[in-house]
Amino acid sequence: MPANKKLLILPGDGIGPEVMREVRRIIEWMEQRRHARFEISEGLVGGAALDAEGVPCPDSTVAAARAADAVLFGSVGGPKWDSLPFERRPELGILRLRKELGLFANLRPAVVLDPLVDASSLKPEVVRGLDIMIVRESTGGIYFGEPRGITTDAAGRRTGIDTEVYTEEEIARVARIAFDLARKRRNKVTSTEKANVMQSGRLWRAVVSEVHKAEFPDVQLEHMYADNAAMQLCSRPKQFDVILASNLFGDLLSDLAAALTGSLGMLPSATLGAVQPDGRRHALYEPIHGSAPDIAGKGIANPSAQILSFAMLLRWSFGMEEDARMIETAVEKVVAGGLRTADIMQPGMARVGTAVMGEAVVRELEKLA
Ligand code: NAD
Repeated sequence: MPANKKLLILPGDGIGPEVMREVRRIIEWMEQRRHARFEISEGLVGGAALDAEGVPCPDSTVAAARAADAVLFGSVGGPKWDSLPFERRPELGILRLRKELGLFANLRPAVVLDPLVDASSLKPEVVRGLDIMIVRESTGGIYFGEPRGITTDAAGRRTGIDTEVYTEEEIARVARIAFDLARKRRNKVTSTEKANVMQSGRLWRAVVSEVHKAEFPDVQLEHMYADNAAMQLCSRPKQFDVILASNLFGDLLSDLAAALTGSLGMLPSATLGAVQPDGRRHALYEPIHGSAPDIAGKGIANPSAQILSFAMLLRWSFGMEEDARMIETAVEKVVAGGLRTADIMQPGMARVGTAVMGEAVVRELEKLA
């Protein structure tokens, strides 16, 4: 089979390279046993790029990301670079990539695996079987709107300003992603905003309704105020299928949903751009956790979130649904079988490190193949 799937791997900092090594193990297995062929390149981002080239996201990395069919990202940052001025922070690496590739829709699944149901802070019966997808707008809204800044008046009093701005095009394109996703799941979208007190929220609700009526009338749509959605997530989370939210509300709601699962080391994410005229779509996949400097270099990080991010990549960028599912099942079986990294350790289970966890996933894949 020809190597036609161009994959750019950006391991980044801290535990990034450690957990990425386990994805490489799975790729090797897939090439041998599933006859999959990937054209893989590796690049620098974050602190690693700052050390080598003096910038958090070199032009060469952006060019490689543009040329790739998909980007698999580790995580960036760490105490070594914490004292740098804001413009040189490692975290700007991911922001530049999102901006340059036009990655406007952040997809974050919050899934509670049965064997980890006790890791949630909520009662098992409230979260058992939980499977939510949060679609967060990620290039607009209050994190980017102008004017912004801190001004000082003549009397020396300071004012902090941020501006929530959304155009109808920005709302419509992310709404389409949410509706499209819902069709492949349980066919329901809950769109969140604060239409009661925000003008941008009024427009959000109107545009989502228009897109729904014109293009996705078969999908169930409900509107919910974002504060109520936060409350409902904590009390009755299983009512949700796909939650659609702005950049700000999505940031909060997706962290809340992640907390419901109780396991940061298990959660992947994807950020998608628009479909290009040639049919390609830029996309970047990354775990939701950071570079975990407190455990970096110890070989104890949980590689599952990075591995599951790769599964999302196979599904969304390469259309390899069967392989994606196989990897997700293999991870679940490893956890169900009692192997646990420190972050998901429970009484009676066997505590293992990053490499043992990765090897165990490959063993399960072998059984499933
Ligand atoms: P973090 O997610 O790195 O760590 C939070 C806690 O969870 C730590 O105790 C860590 O040890 C643990 N943890 C995280 N991932 C784990 C895994 N796979 N296995 C086991 N334990 C895991 O968040 P933080 O400490 O707030 O941030 C650390 C650095 O990461 C900062 O520089 C931050 O800016 C950066 N960060 C980067 C990204 C990104 O690259 N997209 C995202 C979040 C944070």
